Amino acid sequence: MAKVSINLATGSIQKEEIIVGIDLGTTNSLVAFITPEQEPLIINDSGKGLLVPSVIHFSPSGEISVGNEAKEFLITDPENTIFSVKRLLGRSYKDIESHKDFFSYKVIDDDTESLVKVKVGDTFYTPIELSSLILKELKERAEHALKTPVNRAVITVPAYFNDSQRQATRDAGKLAGIDVLRIVNEPTAASLAYGIGLSANESKTIAVYDLGGGTFDVSILQIQNGIFEVLATNGNTYLGGDDFDRAILNYWIEQNKLDAAAVSANKELAQALRLKAEEAKIALTTQNLFNDTVNGIPCAITRQVFESLIADKVQETITCCKNALADAGLTTADIQEVIMVGGSTRTPFVKQSVSEFFKRPVHDQINPDQVVALGAAIQADILAGNRKDILLLDVTPLSLGIETMGGLMDVIIPRNAKVPTKAGRQYTTSVDGQVNLKVAVYQGERDLVKENRKLAEFELKGIPAMPAGLPKVDINFLLNADGILTVEALELRSGVKQQVEVKPTYGLTDNQVEQMLMDSITHAKDDVSQRMIIEAQTEASQMVYTVQRFLEKNASYLSEQEISHTRKLTDELKSLLQSTDKDAILKKTDELNDFTRPFAERLMDEAIGKAMKGKSI
Ligand code: ADP
Ligand code: MG
Repeated sequence: MAKVSINLATGSIQKEEIIVGIDLGTTNSLVAFITPEQEPLIINDSGKGLLVPSVIHFSPSGEISVGNEAKEFLITDPENTIFSVKRLLGRSYKDIESHKDFFSYKVIDDDTESLVKVKVGDTFYTPIELSSLILKELKERAEHALKTPVNRAVITVPAYFNDSQRQATRDAGKLAGIDVLRIVNEPTAASLAYGIGLSANESKTIAVYDLGGGTFDVSILQIQNGIFEVLATNGNTYLGGDDFDRAILNYWIEQNKLDAAAVSANKELAQALRLKAEEAKIALTTQNLFNDTVNGIPCAITRQVFESLIADKVQETITCCKNALADAGLTTADIQEVIMVGGSTRTPFVKQSVSEFFKRPVHDQINPDQVVALGAAIQADILAGNRKDILLLDVTPLSLGIETMGGLMDVIIPRNAKVPTKAGRQYTTSVDGQVNLKVAVYQGERDLVKENRKLAEFELKGIPAMPAGLPKVDINFLLNADGILTVEALELRSGVKQQVEVKPTYGLTDNQVEQMLMDSITHAKDDVSQRMIIEAQTEASQMVYTVQRFLEKNASYLSEQEISHTRKLTDELKSLLQSTDKDAILKKTDELNDFTRPFAERLMDEAIGKAMKGKSI
């Protein structure tokens, strides 16, 4: 039965529920939809603006603000103002360690492979929760502006995002109460916005150059029969428009012979100058001179000077373009279209440089900071089946994955993935000397496998006995064009291998699929919070296990007092293992981790010391 509703905002009849497109950016986020006139449009809720700065502020009284309001606190309340959360999404501390000074808020540095968390006051937030706050804001703005519930969306991610970053983005959507129909690459969305890749018989190779606030990436895409294949990506995740602002700021400091340290110590002044620098940069996009003052300090700059200040940075992006082409095995002559994305490509010098490099005019007709969201809205419309002219490829109706610790569902092939497809992930053991690994395959959208449909289970036997965490087991899913799923588990060191074949759609009716999807939407919030608790419990029990093992083996390196305090903390954490208070568990885990971290270092020093002694004379 087709739903018919009236859109109160436009007064027109709306045949289907609106599915929005979301650009969840590092600096700015946007939400777009397709109007009844079939035009993609960015939502501007009550004139609040098209761009929602991806910034979250936590006030001491517990109020949360997102967007422009939160941005005001960046300099004045840096510990409680979270920006650039996209950089943390799906990442472990090891991934971001070399850039830790970039973040003014507290990123928890438990030196592990587990995903990072952010501490605000006494509360721990995962990047997924933080991103969900931004998505929730976008959802609310869309609902308010369109005067209709918005429950489904397509969300974009950079082409270089790995599996874990994509999964984290999906989870953030889920937590915000959004059913994420598909995760789409940003360059693909930009291309769709230009109508490139919409018709089935089109084949083309294109370059998408994306220079945002703090990140740069270039993607080379091959489009064939409506399928976008990423041939190569390159870039620098710490290069963007912010660097241009900083260059202007430093220029003014130099021109006015100011003391740089004194300026950054004066937060209000630093903030005002930073904002003025961005204003100057934006002005220089359309004029040749900017001239103003901040607190009586002259702030003037010409376009020519600005271009000389940013020349090196822009050249760096061109080098990335060269590298991407080389990786794809192509030259500039093979590129048929060049698309500009990201607010910083508005700077004429950037446009010129890119155009000169590719030896062709670039696409800049659509606002570069809107183009990704507009394309996401088009993709959403296609998935909704509203575009009869566009062929919708075969997709998997439900996600496929395996059970991981705590009975959690780990999705390997997400729902709505095009068929045929293959995907895989690496796992390891959780107990020392573990020689068997159970692989249980499930289908469905719920976070706990017990709510999903079990498809198969087998045991990978004969893993050589090793300490926990050392074996490397690749689990690969291959879904062929006939809908047959092959799951293979392979332990890399020993080569032991086991596989199983199932047909996920066997015995599954359309009604059941629909019911499973409905359930996942109704339970989304509870599911994600439940999962976060289980993840905290799992991490804590691993920590208890590791510390106890450490104490057994290395007690002689520790003082009585260190041992007793470690025992006390471990016991306290143990007593929390069944608790559902996620923050309490994380806090204690963090405490135990902080206290025991130096032990391992000391042990290393001892070992090195011994080795040196052994060598002497
Ligand atoms: P992201 O994709 O990282 O979220 P955006 O694409 O929104 O970021 O780009 C934000 C950057 O674009 C900021 O550095 C901003 O100053 C810059 N920007 C916006 N408008 C202009 C303009 N007219 N000229 C130059 N830079 C601009
Ligand atoms: Mg962007």
